[in-house]
Amino acid sequence: MPNNQDSPRFNIPENITREHIIQAIREIDINGYSEKNASRKYDLLYNGKRYPPKVIISLANKFANGPILEFSEFSGGEQFTNKFLKERSFEISLKNDDDSNFEYESYSWKIISNLVATKQMDKSSFLHHGTGIPVEIRPFFKIDTMKVGDNRQVITLSLGTSNFSAHFEILNKNNPRTRLLWRSDFQHFIQSKFPEWVDYFRKHSKHDNSTPILKLQKTELTDKYLVFFEESEKPPLPDLYTRSTTDGVNSQSPIRENKISSEYTHRMQIWNHLQKHYKSTNVLPDILREEYRIYRGAAGIWYDKERTTPLSDDGNGITVSVLHTGKSYPDDIGDDSIIYHYPTTNRSGNSDQNEINATKNCKKYHLPLFIITHSKENEKMRDVQLGYVVDWNDDNRTFLINFSESEPIIEPSLPMVAEMPFDWTQQRNQKTTTTTSPQRNPVFRFNVLKRYGSKCAVCSIKIDNLLSASHIIPVGEKGGSDDERNGLVLCHNHHRAFDDHLFSIDPMTNKLVFRSNGPSMNELKIETDCITPLRNTPHVETLQWRHKKFREELNNNK
Ligand SMILES: [Zn+2]
Repeated sequence: MPNNQDSPRFNIPENITREHIIQAIREIDINGYSEKNASRKYDLLYNGKRYPPKVIISLANKFANGPILEFSEFSGGEQFTNKFLKERSFEISLKNDDDSNFEYESYSWKIISNLVATKQMDKSSFLHHGTGIPVEIRPFFKIDTMKVGDNRQVITLSLGTSNFSAHFEILNKNNPRTRLLWRSDFQHFIQSKFPEWVDYFRKHSKHDNSTPILKLQKTELTDKYLVFFEESEKPPLPDLYTRSTTDGVNSQSPIRENKISSEYTHRMQIWNHLQKHYKSTNVLPDILREEYRIYRGAAGIWYDKERTTPLSDDGNGITVSVLHTGKSYPDDIGDDSIIYHYPTTNRSGNSDQNEINATKNCKKYHLPLFIITHSKENEKMRDVQLGYVVDWNDDNRTFLINFSESEPIIEPSLPMVAEMPFDWTQQRNQKTTTTTSPQRNPVFRFNVLKRYGSKCAVCSIKIDNLLSASHIIPVGEKGGSDDERNGLVLCHNHHRAFDDHLFSIDPMTNKLVFRSNGPSMNELKIETDCITPLRNTPHVETLQWRHKKFREELNNNK
């Protein structure tokens, strides 16, 4: 066959960027998509959700070029949409039959009272991240009005001191089924609590009423439920189990899933031990290295090749810890998160790339990692925090890692949707602090650099240490939030000049405006007269606020 399909008519416009695609994802999160457009073979994976690649491209074109791209205008599949999305660092996955076609069993729910519902656990609740919700149970969760393809409704499952997030969804299928789906942290929890049932259901589907009971109890908060596990009346292990261990027909993936689950338990055990015995501070490096094996002693990323390489499909391993010395990028660590820079070393081979992939795998496999820093009290000792990789930016080679004990829910960050109105009531939730210095927020910096690119908006400085994520409406003012549309990347000099109203940005034209009696554009070493070449522009209302201040400042100086 001649490569007809390569003719320009079928090409996906190259100017569709990762940002445009993310905008399309946000739109689907809000509006859903038509059932007839559901994908058959592949899905785009983003923040743990699956999306149809062709619908995404078709919508993304709207953000890049105006109209939606008709399905007839481009080709799908591995060589076209998948390749295009992979080039923009998205993950594509074959539809997993095990998951998408699995019948989430929905019987065996019971409403006990207006506050309590129970579910006799079954195969899907042990192995498949969730369970079906029969029609008659929907009102208990107040989801009886949900429609096929509706935006997911997130709830919190609270167990002891841990919170797990879960959501309801109704599949786009001929026979719509409502499912309650939870994330890997809760699945890990269930699997480590009931390993014998996990083994049992890997080999069997049917069950009697001897399985444990999952009990959900409403709280004062609408979307929060307390979780309890109760033994059923019958003995916990059926005879079936003891007879059945010989028919072990296991594919690779459940075994790996099981290994990941044990790795998760292992990491949490280390963390609990560190907390209990050291409060995770002032630990001798030798103890981290020898006793816990979570540190190799040198700067950078440690993924314990021997232990974690067999865990990941790609053979890259899964990062165990990162060491942040604070020497190169002191401002990148905050109270809740850290921006961690990719390694750039002169080591031979592809060690750097391997460590980057191993760290991305933390997110893929929903595993926490340890963030090790030098103790503030004693340079020779180490502090340890537990965290999750939540995002990365291949352009400026950084990871965003959140400090938390359970995997953070990455809600589709609504402010990213360009059309969303700017929220003037929002303000940086500044913690009460005894110092007057603004609280460092690596998340804001990370999001701003990702949205606008890692370069000063008005000159050609690209050096990370010299770039600021500037607030357009300053922190402390009404509207001075960490919404990235209230941000701009500027080098330190131009950040100062902008703060001092030495120049401004016309909100209507995005052109730079200078003071008539100087300093001039030339004197300020500004190299562009317009910020529109940026891949994104700030929210127009933030620029209007700023420009008004600039004009007031000029009048005051007259
Ligand atoms: Zn600059």
